Amino acid sequence: MIDEHDVARRLVTIRERIAAAGGGDVRIVAVTKGFGPDAVSAAMACGLRDIGESYAQETLAKLAPSPPDARPEERPTVHFIGGLQRNKVRKLAPVVDVWQSIDRLELVEEVARRAPGARVLLQVDLSGEVTKGGCPPDAVEPLLGGALDRGLVVVGLMGIAPRGEPELARPGFRLLRSLVDRFSLPECSMGMTADLEVAVEEGTTMVRVGTALFGPRPPRR
Ligand SMILES: *Cc1c(COP(=O)(O)O)cnc(C)c1O
Repeated sequence: MIDEHDVARRLVTIRERIAAAGGGDVRIVAVTKGFGPDAVSAAMACGLRDIGESYAQETLAKLAPSPPDARPEERPTVHFIGGLQRNKVRKLAPVVDVWQSIDRLELVEEVARRAPGARVLLQVDLSGEVTKGGCPPDAVEPLLGGALDRGLVVVGLMGIAPRGEPELARPGFRLLRSLVDRFSLPECSMGMTADLEVAVEEGTTMVRVGTALFGPRPPRR
């Protein structure tokens, strides 16, 4: 059971880490994957509105589509940050507000069809690890063009650093930030629990934090 007071305390620490690294206006996406709906409520109770999820089934089980009459402060903004299969887009569309893992034209087309005008981030491969997804840096431009042509709102780019020492994340984060600037996009989604200082130093606008907010994730079944 997630205790909202624990989350509030940990949030203070995260904000201190961000500030100490020189970050001002950095958005925190609370990554609730692996936890129950209580993690979502605890995050919301602490004033976090951005919720990140990685697995389609789990997202659908945990987060209902917001009722049309929900007040804005009751309604999370749901970010899908995990590897996405095209055949999951239709079911996810009523629940997901921001698609952060768009890395190929097939997904651009399907999201444009099932969630017209949706907000997306294009995921760029920063690690060379196939399992993490993301398009090669030189594929960003054509993918961006394709997304805009199909009416999607491209708010930024997202990247996941390679595993290991936080410092190993720096070259990839620097590359991601340079691409965000090249295409004049507002959002640069990079940095997780282990490497958020490096991400702040390299100009993130949005860190995606799970463990540092909720504690260790229960193993995936
Ligand atoms: C799980 C996950 C996170 C959060 O990871 P923590 O190390 O728990 O902060 C961030 N981004 C993505 C894409 C994830 O899958």
